[in-house]
Amino acid sequence: MSATIIDGQKIAEEMTAQIKKESSSLLPKPGLAVIIVGKDPASLLYVKKKEKACQQVAFYSVLIELPEDVSELKLLNQIDALNQNKKIHGILVQLPLPAHINERLVIDSIYPNKDVDGFTPINMGNLLVGDNRLVPSTPRGIMKLIESTGVHISGKHAVVVGRSNIVGKPISLLLQQHGATVTMCHSRTHPLEYYTKQADILVSAVGKPKLISGSMIKKGAVVIDVGINSLNNTLVGDVDFESASTVAGFITPVPKGVGPMTIACLLENTLYAYRQQHL
Ligand code: NDP
Repeated sequence: MSATIIDGQKIAEEMTAQIKKESSSLLPKPGLAVIIVGKDPASLLYVKKKEKACQQVAFYSVLIELPEDVSELKLLNQIDALNQNKKIHGILVQLPLPAHINERLVIDSIYPNKDVDGFTPINMGNLLVGDNRLVPSTPRGIMKLIESTGVHISGKHAVVVGRSNIVGKPISLLLQQHGATVTMCHSRTHPLEYYTKQADILVSAVGKPKLISGSMIKKGAVVIDVGINSLNNTLVGDVDFESASTVAGFITPVPKGVGPMTIACLLENTLYAYRQQHL
């Protein structure tokens, strides 16, 4: 059997077209500010993509590039200015931050109604109690990808590999909200394949190339590969696509799977934040 490829790029383009349509009549324009500290090439690439996406939908966008050695106080002051700025409806701080900066403190300083990444304790807490408002973009995108397959989530066994605050934990909560029985795996899970083989829906968000091979996947499963890894100068996920696609029912490619959905959901979150601020 050959798996159906879930075309994240296409779904993201459709979402982006819809966002553009909705925002075309809005004045002022929804505004997104992205802050990046340092010059990590991967992070710079991500923020440029976000800036380009904002231009595509005619959002007002601001990119703030701060030096690697910027003080925590200066960064917090920058966020405070954006919190007060009426042209800005969403604020995103590209992670990771340099070691001398307290990441938690920085995220907590973003006003929850402008927290389009959904990482502040208020938005995370809302998600925990099922009051979904600004939900992190990657998990939101993953849910849309799963829903696009037509496979019913309710009653299924979903296995999530990875327990980070930005992907693993929130996607587990969303899957549980939709009626899945969720198992969470992480670096201490042994043996990993015991769990992954039981998954009707398998989400891998680890960051290790070829961690999951076809022999670790249940026949017909929906496989969502969140990982972004560089292997021999090629971008690959956590899942060994070649062997996995002979077993899975549906599978996301890397690239053009989860990545474009993260950006489209970020735009949706910015539009949502805008609407909430213009009620
Ligand atoms: P983190 O490094 O924060 O978390 C990785 C998780 O994987 C941890 O929970 C860790 O366990 C677990 N883990 C590590 N090794 C193993 C293993 N051998 N078996 C099982 N679990 C393991 O990563 P993120 O969640 O931030 O990102 C994960 C991947 O997704 C990365 O490749 C990242 O680049 C990508 N990503 C992609 C996005 C997209 O838009 N496509 C968006 C965000 C992330 P433990 O907690 O025990 O350490």
